[in-house]
Formats: sequence, structure tokens, C-alpha cells
Amino acid sequence: MATANLSITRRASLREALAQLEQTALGILLLVRDDGIFERTVTDGDLRRLILGGNSLDASLAGLPEIQSLVIGADHTRRDALDLMNKGGINHLPVVDADGRVVEVLDRKEIDEQILLSTPHIGSAEREFVDEAFRTNWIAPLGPNVDAFERELAAIVGSRHGAALSSGTAALHLGLRLLGVGPGDRVFCSTLTFAASAFPILYQGAEPVFIDADAATWNLCPLALARAFDAAERTGRMPKAVMVVNLYGQSADMDPILALCERHGVPILEDAAESLGAKYKGRHSGTFGRLGVYSFNGNKIITTSGGGMLVSDDPALIEKARFLATQARDPAPHYQHSEIGFNYRMSNILAGVGRGQLKVLGDRVASRREVFDTYRRELADIDLLEWMPEPEWSFSNRWLTAATLRADAPLTATDLIRRLAGEMIEARPVWKPMHLQPVFEGSELYKVQGSPVADRLFEYGLCLPSGSNMTANQLERVIATLRRLLGK
Ligand SMILES: *Cc1c(COP(=O)(O)O)cnc(C)c1O
Repeated sequence: MATANLSITRRASLREALAQLEQTALGILLLVRDDGIFERTVTDGDLRRLILGGNSLDASLAGLPEIQSLVIGADHTRRDALDLMNKGGINHLPVVDADGRVVEVLDRKEIDEQILLSTPHIGSAEREFVDEAFRTNWIAPLGPNVDAFERELAAIVGSRHGAALSSGTAALHLGLRLLGVGPGDRVFCSTLTFAASAFPILYQGAEPVFIDADAATWNLCPLALARAFDAAERTGRMPKAVMVVNLYGQSADMDPILALCERHGVPILEDAAESLGAKYKGRHSGTFGRLGVYSFNGNKIITTSGGGMLVSDDPALIEKARFLATQARDPAPHYQHSEIGFNYRMSNILAGVGRGQLKVLGDRVASRREVFDTYRRELADIDLLEWMPEPEWSFSNRWLTAATLRADAPLTATDLIRRLAGEMIEARPVWKPMHLQPVFEGSELYKVQGSPVADRLFEYGLCLPSGSNMTANQLERVIATLRRLLGK
């Protein structure tokens, strides 16, 4: 905020000060010396006290006590400024230069907005489906919204069947069970992913074997996968399944992966938690494996506030998934169980939210891609940033805009993320690879050569705010902040 019409000297009269205060609409004036150096702020209350102290409206401000007003230096972060405002219980904070002149007055309203990485973006139809569930008292889990959500999602992605579940993690867990993964089995799994991909392998008492990423896709590297299969063949320890993750909304390079898995007769469980709406060679991500998984967690491209879906072209697998997800009740007149079951079904209420969200999936993908394109276009001259590539066969949903900093950048990705946080902008590191996680210590990693690609992406990578509901102003603010922090 400009300061010209906020400044006043002690020579001004009370009347002039009141009139000036009236005009600014900010509620404060800046008392400056004749040489322009800032002395203190002046509020309505300060003027009132002068009048009550016996000063006439024509008296000057000479009687204002000398106090130390809160100020902040020009190199402040937003976070510093807000902390100071909170501490002082004020809404306006003068920014002073090295000489003590005010260069700007910060207004809390204008700086307290936090820009988040990825937030839920609700459309207009969700409410109707949820209301319908209430009206018909279909509050209990299962019901018409669940059936319809499964049908509608399967139709959109071009899979034959879907089972709506309580989370993507639950879907991955059931997927592994359906593929017969059990204690002592090995499962090949992308190392560059969120831990939710790999945890269910442990739930089943199986052993994850991690596969490095490919720099061209950030996803499972087919060459590293081939090496893992070769080694498994030599030692006779073939995996029971391969978990292929589609990171940040981009499909892995499925053709060579499918060819390898088919040759070795090992089924694929596709973790498409982040890639709903993305395509590989024109076909929907998540429909390439024997089973595929989507997530509707709060930060995903569409959300049910929490939920997941297991899809497959095999009706027997999906029917079995529904059976296991509802406590594995045998078809008997009494409560009988021959298998271990789970309580993993999605509720009819949340499926209503999901049906509404499916209607806007295409819009959400378009918006996220637009966010990515805007970053890339507006920051094209900043060669310190290298954007996550999109191979020509890929149509990414750009769930998160991800990039790496060049190794010779003057600051690390961690520094950049911290400095963005100081400006109230939430950026995140790229997933820490699973083979580097304490919980998976001692696990195997297959890579092509040199240090793992996943390690480099983790070290130099970051994800920028990418929500489909970001405003143009918010996007502009992130871009301007990045330009400043990266020295342009
Ligand atoms: C979000 C996510 C999951 C887990 O989904 P939830 O619905 O949160 O359980 C699994 N894998 C990846 C890659 C994810 O990003």
C-alpha cells in the first residue's frame, strides 16, 4: 500500500490529522520527521486522547508521546510480518528501509492468504446426490449412490467393473489379496511414490522390491524392471505382482512394462491414485493392469473427502473385492465367515459426493493442466527450473505441477520450499523414495546404473500449488514469488 497520503508531521494540527485519517480509510497515519524518517503511527485513539487532554483542534501534534511503533524491515517474509501483527494485535504494519523511511504499509487483509498445494474443489451436483441419500434415508453404507458411482466411474475410464472402497490404500490392500499376495511373497513396486503404495505389501506380510524411476517419466523404469525380473529368474524368486504407480498424474510407460510382466506371467496392480483422468496412448490410466486403483482423498484431483475405487475388467475379481470389503460374509442364513474380511466399503453418502465430482472431472483435469502450462509459460526464462516431462504418448492430468531445480541452482529445493512457506505458499518436496525410508530399511532396489534416478528427483524436486480452484491472482503471486526467489 502506498504511503504518500498517510504521512503527517508534528506540525500538523489535530483538525488536519483527523481529516487526513478520515480520507485514508486505513485507520492509521504515519508520523514522520521533517527529513522523512518514521517516528510512530497515529490512530484515532491517539488523537482522541490529545483532545481529552485539553488540546484544541487547532493545536499541533507536538504533544503526541514518543512511542516505539512496530515496524518491519524490507527483507521480511509474509510470515514474519503476520507474526509481528499478531504479536502486536495490529492490522497494519509499516515497512521501513535502512534509513528508517516507510516504503510501504502492510495490510493484514492483503497478506494473510495462504496458498495451499491442492484443496478440494466441489462442483454444483454433489449436494443433490447427498441430499437424495438423506431424503431416502440411504445413510447406511451401500445404496444406490455406491452402485451408480461404480458404474459411472468405470464407464468414464473404460473399465468393466469397479468397487467403491473406503480409501485408495484399502483398494491397494484388497488388490494385493486378490492377486494372492501373502506372507513371504515378493512384490515389485515403484520406489518413487507415496508410502501408501507400498504399505499394503507389508500388510500382507510380503516383501517389497523397489524399482527405480525413469527420468523421462518419473515413473517405473522398464529397464530397471527388466533387471529385477532377470535377477528374480536367476534366483527363482519371482514376484507375485508388480505395483506400477502413475506419479503426479502421469501414466508410466505401460507398453514395455506390460510386455515384461506378460512374458513372466506376473499380474500388474496399477496405483492410479494420482492419475484419474490421465491417459496413456489414448487409454485411461489405471486400466492397464489386472486391477487398478483410484483415490478420492481430499487432496486428489477429485474427492469424496476420503475414498477409493478398485477397477478391473474381470467381474470375478471385483465381486470378490466387494465380498472381502464387507467382512467376507458367506451366503448363509446365519453370520458365517470362511475367510478374513475387512470393513472397506464406501458409504452411500460419500459415493454421492463422488458422483457429483465425476461430472466435473474433465474440467478439473483441464484446470490443472492450465495451471501447469501457466507456470511453464510464465517462468520459461528461469532455466533453473526443469518441469516434469510429459512424453508424447502421455496425457497427464497434472495433478501436481512438479519440477526439479538444476543442480547448480544457488539454493536447494528444501531452501526454496522453506522460503515459499515464509511467503505463505505451500510447496512440497517430491515423494521420498521408498528404498530410502527407515520403515523399508534393508529392502532391495533395482536401477539401471549410477545413483538412483529417484534419489535425484527427490533431492532436486518440488511440487507447486496446483489446485483447480486457484485464482489467477494466487497463481500470479506464486509465479512472482518464484521469480523473486530464483533471482529474476
Ligand atoms: C493418495 C495416494 C494413495 C492412497 O490413497 P488414499 O485414498 O489416501 O488411501 C496411494 N498411492 C498414491 C500414489 C497416492 O498418491
